[in-house]
Amino acid sequence: MLDSGVSQAHISGKNFSMNNDMKQCIEKLLSGERLTREEFCLLIQERTKETASKIAEEARRRKQAVYGDSIFLRGIVEFSNVCKNDCYYCGIRKSNEHVRRYRLSKEEILQCCRAGYEIGMRTFVLQSGEDGAYTDSVLEEIIRGIKKEFPDCAVTLSLGERDKDSYQRLYDAGADRYLLRHETADPEHYRKLHPEYMSFEHRMHCLYELREIGYDVGAGMMVGSPYQTERELAEDLYFIQDFRPEMCGIGPFIPHRDTPFRDQPAGTLEMTLFLLSVIRLIEPEVLLPATTALGTIDPRGREKGVLAGANVIMPNLSPVRVRHQYELYDNKICMDDEAGQCGACIELRMRTVGSRIAVDRGDIRRDGFRSGILCRKKLE
Ligand code: SAH
Repeated sequence: MLDSGVSQAHISGKNFSMNNDMKQCIEKLLSGERLTREEFCLLIQERTKETASKIAEEARRRKQAVYGDSIFLRGIVEFSNVCKNDCYYCGIRKSNEHVRRYRLSKEEILQCCRAGYEIGMRTFVLQSGEDGAYTDSVLEEIIRGIKKEFPDCAVTLSLGERDKDSYQRLYDAGADRYLLRHETADPEHYRKLHPEYMSFEHRMHCLYELREIGYDVGAGMMVGSPYQTERELAEDLYFIQDFRPEMCGIGPFIPHRDTPFRDQPAGTLEMTLFLLSVIRLIEPEVLLPATTALGTIDPRGREKGVLAGANVIMPNLSPVRVRHQYELYDNKICMDDEAGQCGACIELRMRTVGSRIAVDRGDIRRDGFRSGILCRKKLE
């Protein structure tokens, strides 16, 4: 009896001190103070259902204060699945011989944009593998074509790593934003996800170059990627806090049958939602998508993402005939919906969580402090 009484006291004593540390972390997060890596780690490790729901509630409130109940659409055009890289997690990696490779022409891309414009999209995201056939001049033509036909729309690029000159030319041609997920902010972890010839330093360098040129920049990572622990996730949050990306794409890792990571478990809904909320609190103005991957691991994943603090949805505008060839992970959703169907579906889904689709470019609301600065850590 005595024994159990002692250990009970010990446990509650221990809980008390852990809760206190956790409480402090949450208070710092809510008051906009910077957290250390250790604090982010603790926040992740010690999270409970209750703390996650408190943080989500606050994240929703912040989002509401900055963006109201608006959700912004980004129509994504996956214009080429040709890739020179061999990322271990990605379904369109170079070594995957089961993929039928395709490339879309400028006219085909414009047609996708037209369908998106019809349903109220005012941002188009051009995404592809790292495909050398799309030289700067080919891409300039495409960007100029979109900007000419849709001067009221933003163009976002997601083409992977290029040199600074190229980023500059595409920016000068009219591109507004660039998505380049950092994938992981830990160099050792990066090495476990990519072949040796790919470089963590180079990817990070690209992010700073894009920022310097003037793009609105998107970073981000997969949640639950192989070898990721709370420590790596804490490093990601620390990097996001430091870099202050305008956009942040996070979604669960999902295995693809034809990759070396085919047998690895997927990331969880719960962790992804928690991190979305934390990121909204770190950076209240950030444009935060509820990703397709989140909608893939849970039928209401994107709605839940919006309730956790996301304010962007990225419907697929690629021609239905090529969508199956741009399968980054297994069971990707919305493979057969035409743009019109997709628009109606998203509209309805968003209504169920008290949000409405805004026909708007959905630029970041600048807070004054952000404009004119590069970022806390300047380009080295
Ligand atoms: N070539 C571009 C676009 C990559 S695809 C680039 O390098 O940036 C866009 C994102 O999909 C990647 O950045 C990665 O984070 C994500 N992705 C790739 N494979 C995935 C998988 N198996 N599960 C979840 N997300 C994945």
